[in-house]
Amino acid sequence: MATSLRSVLIANRGEIACRIMRTAKKLGMHTIAVYSEADAHAQHVKQADEAYLIGPAPARESYLVADKIIAVAKQAKADCIHPGYGFLSENVDFAQACADAGIVFVGPPPSAIRAMGLKDGAKALMQKAGVPVVPGYHGAEQDAHFLAAQAEAISYPVLIKAVAGGGGKGMRRVDAAADFAAALEGAQREAQSAFGNSHVLIEKYILAPRHIEMQVFGDAHGNAIHLFERDCSLQRRHQKVIEEAPAPGMTPEVRAAMGKAAVDAARAVGYQGAGTIEFIVDGSKGLRADGFYFMEMNTRLQVEHPVTEAITGLDLVALQFRVAAGEPLPVKQEDIRCTGHAFEARLYAEDPENGFLPQAGKLWSLHFPTAPGLRVDTGVAMGDEVTPFYDPMIAKLITHGATRQEALTRLAQALKKTTVAGPKCNVRFLRALCEAPAFRDEQFDTGFIDRNLTELGAVTREINAASVARGAVFAMKQKVHDLHKKSPFGHDPWNVSDGFALTGPRRSSLAVLVEGKRVDAVLTGSLEGAGQSVTIPSLHYDHVTYLGLHKAQPDMIASDCHVIGIPGGGTVFVLDDGQQTTVVPFDPLGVDYEHEGEGDGTVTSPMHGKLVALFVKPGDKVEKGQRVAIVEAMKMEHTLVAPSAGVVSDVAAAEGQQVAQDARLITIHTEEAS
Ligand code: ADP
Ligand code: ADP
Ligand code: MG
Repeated sequence: MATSLRSVLIANRGEIACRIMRTAKKLGMHTIAVYSEADAHAQHVKQADEAYLIGPAPARESYLVADKIIAVAKQAKADCIHPGYGFLSENVDFAQACADAGIVFVGPPPSAIRAMGLKDGAKALMQKAGVPVVPGYHGAEQDAHFLAAQAEAISYPVLIKAVAGGGGKGMRRVDAAADFAAALEGAQREAQSAFGNSHVLIEKYILAPRHIEMQVFGDAHGNAIHLFERDCSLQRRHQKVIEEAPAPGMTPEVRAAMGKAAVDAARAVGYQGAGTIEFIVDGSKGLRADGFYFMEMNTRLQVEHPVTEAITGLDLVALQFRVAAGEPLPVKQEDIRCTGHAFEARLYAEDPENGFLPQAGKLWSLHFPTAPGLRVDTGVAMGDEVTPFYDPMIAKLITHGATRQEALTRLAQALKKTTVAGPKCNVRFLRALCEAPAFRDEQFDTGFIDRNLTELGAVTREINAASVARGAVFAMKQKVHDLHKKSPFGHDPWNVSDGFALTGPRRSSLAVLVEGKRVDAVLTGSLEGAGQSVTIPSLHYDHVTYLGLHKAQPDMIASDCHVIGIPGGGTVFVLDDGQQTTVVPFDPLGVDYEHEGEGDGTVTSPMHGKLVALFVKPGDKVEKGQRVAIVEAMKMEHTLVAPSAGVVSDVAAAEGQQVAQDARLITIHTEEAS
């Protein structure tokens, strides 16, 4: 079972570092972790046999510093380095530096990474190898007028893509010539800041596109195989959300054609190890042997590799280690079987009800169910932090079943039984996707999510009054409990000498903050047992009998609703069917939590991020809704607009600067005020 590689340094973090370690340990390898200051207490550090600090939180100063990582590998006598995905996984110089240092890089030869590294070069190479590519322009000329003419020639809609792109960055769909210049500028800026390379290519935008990719493997002995396809069409902003294998509607003929194209592509670059050939398919015409086009090759292990593991029964990381050790692939094409159907959902700390803004913070609660056919890959545990420095993925839930329906039902059930409190997350959104009739019916393409945001619940919602009521009662209870602990009186928590002690029909009120707004809740009846009622006048929540809070400690109070109180009587998180409402007892002596009124002329950063563009300076006149700045975080650009018309009176940040969530960036002297 073991390979000749006895130890591995994992140059990554989070779930993928933990995933790689699991197989490394199974193969009897010694595991070495590296970590940034932000990850000192991370799971991947705890799970490794040894771990080394490599620098401050920003990836550029830690996980992306090749020299430091190689120095640690030498010091720890690592036989090999596994780069995971992201970070240095597709970095040619890093792969070469490993080779130069006499350390095995668990990945393809540097020449293969280079050949596939830029989308323009890869497309040219694939065209030569007879692999179909998307029609478009992928030459060197980058003049804006020239590119606009190319777009015209290709005919709209077109897609502008950063040649160095990844993770959906530096990409813009353009539907009309009038929008081309602005889209080009945006794509170039994003590409320059993310990849240090502003070059783009232009492709025909495929309508109703489906993203279908083939998993390939090569070895040093000239073998190349594919492990079937994955359908990754459920995307948002060109980022995968739910993946599955096999692809709905796949036929043996199409699979054979796609598999051959993928293996040809791998052979054309002398590929070794795990790789993925991504194809785009025109979904409106169904899957056809002549209807798919090469998009790019990812020369690494993919986030969604577990669905392939589920249907093939193979451990892809083990295969990677075997190939890296110089062994021939232990499986032949004809031995690989596809059994059942598998799904993966990416659980993210983000707020679907608020533009999917990335979230950060402590995971006060984190629970996953265990169930037949369910696998959960995660790099965090309850009590860990989701930091703003890296991809805010919390976990991947993978389900396998005999049929597509069974696997999808299992995924929906697993999501239903998943609890996350602290940062908001997309669990309810993922479940809505699993339950969407069209998705169940295999009627979807890459635009499905964007077309159905309302149906999927990804829209601003009213405050959940029932959750506020539960949270307020819980907070009152905690408060009384705390007072009681300090009190010399008897066991009845009402028997304390503060405002909570009442006679007759007991009434008490508590002011709480919900989403930054003050809400007053009034409770009538005893805090213990049944028969209470809660009134929240401002939310028109009246006299609804409140049952169910029977326990003094943070705990589950109903099967579909959880209340989690932070120790110390502070914040209370109420989960209703996966939707989190945060209730904070109001402290009138503390800071003014209430958001300033609308149209007050303050532009704040919606999240931790980088101010990548600033379009105004003091003295500028702005219209309401005018674009004033762009903040970028977690692969996404967010455009900030003027909340009201007026004159810019102050700009508190500079382009390129990191900004904190809620930091005031721009002040506009409004017309009403003047
Ligand atoms: P996959 O197809 O496997 O999802 P992606 O191209 O989306 O591949 O990227 C894989 C991983 O690499 C992401 O989950 C992310 O961690 C990382 N990554 C890729 N591009 C970026 C980027 N521009 N900024 C930050 N992380 C990135
Ligand atoms: P990245 O390196 O960021 O993963 P890709 O080239 O793989 O970039 O494209 C990412 C996604 O963008 C695809 O999965 C697909 O949804 C969409 N896409 C890419 N090319 C096209 C195209 N020509 N037409 C329509 N959609 C496309
Ligand atoms: Mg891609």
